[in-house]
Amino acid sequence: MKDSPDIEHGAHDGASGSVPLWQRTPGDRPLRDTVERTVDIAILGGGVAGTSCAYHAASRGVGCVLLEAGTIASRASGRNDGQILLGLGEHYNRLIGQWGARDAEALWRFIDDNHEGMLAVIEDQTLACSAIRNGGLRLAEAETEAAELRESAELLAGMGVPVRYLDAPEVAEALPLSRGFVGGLFLEREAIFDPFAFVRELAMRARDRGARVREACPVAKIEGEAGGFRIHCADGPCIDATVLVHATSALAPELDRSGFLGRTIFPFRGQILATHPLPDEVCRAMPPWAMSSNFCYEYFRMHADRLTLGGMRWAVPGEETGIVDDSTVHDGVTARLEAWLEAHFPAIARAGTAMSWTGIMAGTRDGLPLVGGIPGRPGEYTCAAFNGYGMSFAFAAGATIVDLIESGRTERPAAAMFRPSRFV
Ligand SMILES: Cc1cc2nc3c(=O)[nH]c(=O)nc-3n(C[C@H](O)[C@H](O)[C@H](O)COP(=O)(O)OP(=O)(O)OC[C@H]3O[C@@H](n4cnc5c(N)ncnc54)[C@H](O)[C@@H]3O)c2cc1C
Repeated sequence: MKDSPDIEHGAHDGASGSVPLWQRTPGDRPLRDTVERTVDIAILGGGVAGTSCAYHAASRGVGCVLLEAGTIASRASGRNDGQILLGLGEHYNRLIGQWGARDAEALWRFIDDNHEGMLAVIEDQTLACSAIRNGGLRLAEAETEAAELRESAELLAGMGVPVRYLDAPEVAEALPLSRGFVGGLFLEREAIFDPFAFVRELAMRARDRGARVREACPVAKIEGEAGGFRIHCADGPCIDATVLVHATSALAPELDRSGFLGRTIFPFRGQILATHPLPDEVCRAMPPWAMSSNFCYEYFRMHADRLTLGGMRWAVPGEETGIVDDSTVHDGVTARLEAWLEAHFPAIARAGTAMSWTGIMAGTRDGLPLVGGIPGRPGEYTCAAFNGYGMSFAFAAGATIVDLIESGRTERPAAAMFRPSRFV
């Protein structure tokens, strides 16, 4: 594992590291809002999860401060592929197999609500994040997966979800530059956006509503109990809070004094490459959809005149698990992504890789997030561990956390599946 010399992933405003396509223009100076000594809610971590909590709290008039070690969305939330997907990486037939029909549908509805809420805010409040809701396509490279996609299409259609199964000739017509796909499932309500821009814009809307935001503010230590937490920030001031929300993803175990998050969350790393700008005729042949194949293990999309492609973690078993370093890339993963592109989109592969980056995610044993109170720690909540699908969950999860803080309950049926206490 090392920095690869032949692609540009090091230089960014003098900094080193694997810099995402979305973060290649230097950011503004760190946000350093003044914070009252005592706040209602202190939210630790300014990724999509923490920012969503801050947005919903502030929108309901609840005082909050968002404390971020780096800059807002500098970690996974600004390093992902910006695909707003329905239903996780598992095809719907498998979700039913794992959870049963009732819970699978509740999960689907939660994610659908997440998208509706998020896209409504993007539209109503004109968040500049290049959002395009033209649909998404899951592709099969083998007949066995195509059969699962057909079955999933029928199950989803039965729930009234706008969905269409494409056979091999229809895939070839929709994606004329592609090779080797034997079927596909088209979901009309999926979308793509620039995730870095989205989260930063959402943070600005949270501030407009009264949330205080402090970047470059690593939380070093927490003391106290419910109603009287004291948060020690490495940048100086202490803040007292009634309630705490841990939204620090794979680093959440570091600040959880109970040890619960350390037992339930594990870190893993994903990697993406972006091509050099593609010729106009290639761009015209590529639809602006969220796309994936091989049970979503490989995923790709267009952003302006480049294609981004992620995945191939499975091809280096164990090597990308347990890692919290997103400053390097895995050359073996880059090589496999490039080989995949050559096999499936040779006209795009010809452009070559311009940049490559990694991001750290948090996983749980059952593949579902942790959204709710930390067992045995009154007043401490967690909104974390989206298992690689944070854009599908975090907006609604942030609203759920604020529901729970305000009233101890939430109307969203799937939220019961995300209760941290399921692991006790
Ligand atoms: C390569 C890749 C591709 C992906 N593609 C997609 C996709 O297309 N669609 C999708 O839905 N999801 C995707 N994901 C997953 C998605 O990015 C994550 O699920 C989501 O961003 C997690 O958000 P978060 O807020 O929980 O974590 P993060 O964004 O990691 O935020 C946690 C924040 O906590 C901060 N922090 C940590 N410790 C402290 C501390 N002590 N004090 C203060 N702050 C602290 C960190 O600096 C960080 O900003 C992808 C992820 C990767 C890596």
